[in-house]
Amino acid sequence: MSTDRLADLRAEISDLNQRLLDLVAQRIAKVGEVRALKAELGLPMFDPMREARMFEELVLRHAGGPLSEAEIRAIFRPIFEISLAHMEGRASGELRVSRLPGEPDRQIAIGDARLGGAIPPTIIAGPCAVESEEQIEAVARAVAALGFEFLRGGAFKPRTNPDSFQGLGIEGLHLLRAAADRHGLRVVSEVTGPRELEAMGGLVDLFQVGARNMANYELLKELGAARQPVLLKRSFAATLDEFLLAAEYLAKFGARDIALCERGIRTFERETRFTLDIAAVPLLKQKTALPLIVDVSHAAGRRDLVLPLAKAALAAGADGLMIEVHPFPEAALSDAAHQLSIEAFARFVEEMRATLSIRDDARFP
Ligand code: PEP
Ligand code: MN
Repeated sequence: MSTDRLADLRAEISDLNQRLLDLVAQRIAKVGEVRALKAELGLPMFDPMREARMFEELVLRHAGGPLSEAEIRAIFRPIFEISLAHMEGRASGELRVSRLPGEPDRQIAIGDARLGGAIPPTIIAGPCAVESEEQIEAVARAVAALGFEFLRGGAFKPRTNPDSFQGLGIEGLHLLRAAADRHGLRVVSEVTGPRELEAMGGLVDLFQVGARNMANYELLKELGAARQPVLLKRSFAATLDEFLLAAEYLAKFGARDIALCERGIRTFERETRFTLDIAAVPLLKQKTALPLIVDVSHAAGRRDLVLPLAKAALAAGADGLMIEVHPFPEAALSDAAHQLSIEAFARFVEEMRATLSIRDDARFP
């Protein structure tokens, strides 16, 4: 009877399903053994080459079979993903950068400087762009004298207008490094493409990925693989999910030290250059344990809002601030409208110290 035959076939298919599931479970158990071995050998859990080779192998062996290459990939991609999640001790679908239940804030150590965790807010200060030795020396001296540890300065500047000042390039980085070293500071500077990465090694302590490059996935992969500490800025057109997925690229490809930076998003409001997304601060702190910096300078695009927005950012739970400082802001080659003079920066710090009772753990050094 054909209905019996149908029942038999269905039973066989159920049996095959069960065997497939058992095989996947066996595969995951085997992956657990690989995990233990890799941990022992200090090898990264994710190996993109290995994944590519496994796909190739499967496609080759199935040549002439009924499944297309695309179908083979569609079947195995989720199996690989789930196995990798198990290998990394995550539930599948959960991001590597997700805050685990009960996980305290993560902290990044750069030399003896710290970012994130239950410590006083970190201030990353410095000019928009390195312009000269005198300029960066004056700012470095002030940043160190005020007790801060991180000096920023753009050398490779991603400018909206190609005719605008593009930065001094590697020469600027050398000036920045030298000024930082004279004052015992850590260097934060933007990397705009995979090509510059190698040349920047040794000159930069914390690699900034700018808003315009947040979704430059090739750069994120290279930076991750280089295992360099990264300060990832949110694109002004990115949702928080997109922002966290960009951080996920860094984590997946090997980055261990990732800090996030909210720097304002584009809205219809024109009074400010961007709109500081203050809700992003508690939301990001809920979603991840990564250190979170708020760049109030670029968000506002105007000097007079730096102080109130900085207070708001720390009150909302940010781990630190980025502030642009220039000896002669009006003459700055970029972002003249929002950089603080050295005197204004010192007043800003004083004012922040006076008002920081808003957060128990928020005490400037
Ligand atoms: C910067 O910090 O130098 C910068 C260019 O900022 P953003 O990428 O946030 O525009
Ligand atoms: Mn700037």
